[in-house]
Amino acid sequence: MTVRTRIAPSPTGDPHLGTAYVALFNYCFARRHGGQFILRIEDTDQERSNRRSEEMILESLRWLGLHWDEGPDVGGPHGPYRQSERAPIYREHVALLLEAGHAFRCFCTPERLEALRQQQRAQNLPLGYDGHCLAIPVDEAERRAAAGEPFVVRMKVPRSGECVVHDCLRGDIVFDYAQVDMQVLLKADGLPTYHLANVVDDHLMGITHIIRGEEWIPSAPKHLLLYSYFGWTAPELCHLPLLRNPDRSKLSKRKNPTSLRFFQRMGYLPEAMLNFLGLMAWSMPDGEEKFTLEEMVRNFDLQRISLGGPVFDMTKLSWLNGRWIRENLDVEEFARRVQAWALNRDYLMAIAPLTQQRVERLSDLGPLTAFFFSGLLDPTPESLVAGKLDAAQIRSAFDAMLARIDAMTVWNRDTVEAELRGVADELGLKLRDMLKPLYVAITGRPAGVPLFDAMAILGKDISRARIRQAREALEAA
Ligand code: GLU
Repeated sequence: MTVRTRIAPSPTGDPHLGTAYVALFNYCFARRHGGQFILRIEDTDQERSNRRSEEMILESLRWLGLHWDEGPDVGGPHGPYRQSERAPIYREHVALLLEAGHAFRCFCTPERLEALRQQQRAQNLPLGYDGHCLAIPVDEAERRAAAGEPFVVRMKVPRSGECVVHDCLRGDIVFDYAQVDMQVLLKADGLPTYHLANVVDDHLMGITHIIRGEEWIPSAPKHLLLYSYFGWTAPELCHLPLLRNPDRSKLSKRKNPTSLRFFQRMGYLPEAMLNFLGLMAWSMPDGEEKFTLEEMVRNFDLQRISLGGPVFDMTKLSWLNGRWIRENLDVEEFARRVQAWALNRDYLMAIAPLTQQRVERLSDLGPLTAFFFSGLLDPTPESLVAGKLDAAQIRSAFDAMLARIDAMTVWNRDTVEAELRGVADELGLKLRDMLKPLYVAITGRPAGVPLFDAMAILGKDISRARIRQAREALEAA
């Protein structure tokens, strides 16, 4: 058997650390066994998915050097590798399930489902579909569907008995079927849900081992049931422990930067990132903390994965990155990396138009542009509260900015300006007053190059991290 693993990101936001972490383990396992590593885009959620996010995820994984053998960009024998291009395949498979009586059409209105949820909540019952439409005879359901009545397709789930999920790290996990929801497989718009598309694709793409985050364990009973309904052998399941913040909460972008682009812009080396992500749940047999991707592949063994909640601690990452920079790059290579990071023509060409009219000597560029080549700036509360707004007002403004920035998918001068104007309007602040502390947060100084342009060039991730840090500096103020 040829080992085939996959990473299956949903392109709904910034490329996430967790995606790189899971991709790394899939990559190592496939390479260790001379198998293949596949990239599939799970974009069935049409409202939240977008192409820019897909591009960024691919770019970030490429930057890390986790090359895939098949994927939407490189093709392969099991394409298309983007779920939005596979709708007919899912419809065919839903038809098979309906025909065999493993699934049923559900005509319940959103209002009925909401009322059901409320009632279940009030009675402290587990939330889930109550099987209302199971009672509709198949020919009647077909007639109603043919007449144009909106419906979804749900999977049937036994109402009693147990489902045993075998996880290759945890052993058997037992679920009562009574706790498993009659999951929607096909939505009213004719597109599949994650569960259906994921199972169908893993099977058709010949995936032998599913290595993914532990947040998917509760979905496993539904998936195993689908495999058995289709008469397919399920892949091996292996759920990795979730990455955590230093306070042990689940890693989330609300607390700490999680976008791979942030780490790239901060000047972490891809080798150090992979090394650190590897250390999150795995260790070398000899306990060595610093290792290359190739060394990880050579020594990879699923059984060396540890299930403790791994803490993504940026201080430790920085320490490891420093070691990589000092110990693994010769001067020539160090210079090349610096150049690729921010001393490249594209970056300089973005900065040049903002600065040319503001200098008398080229040497004025140093202080004027230092913030373009820096990470976090550690502004003091005094420097932030130097204008008309008090600390509480600035904090609210920063909070509102962070919320808006989070939701932005298009990042350029105009969108940044529009959102910031929106914040000022929302809070009833004068734009000028609000931009003053923001200027300090973003550039570390009270004045200099135009702010919206600067933020556009710095990118969303660094801008957001600087605002968050300034917000924290004001916490005590
Ligand atoms: N699209 C899912 C995600 O975004 C994939 C989960 C899985 O690997 O099955 O994580």
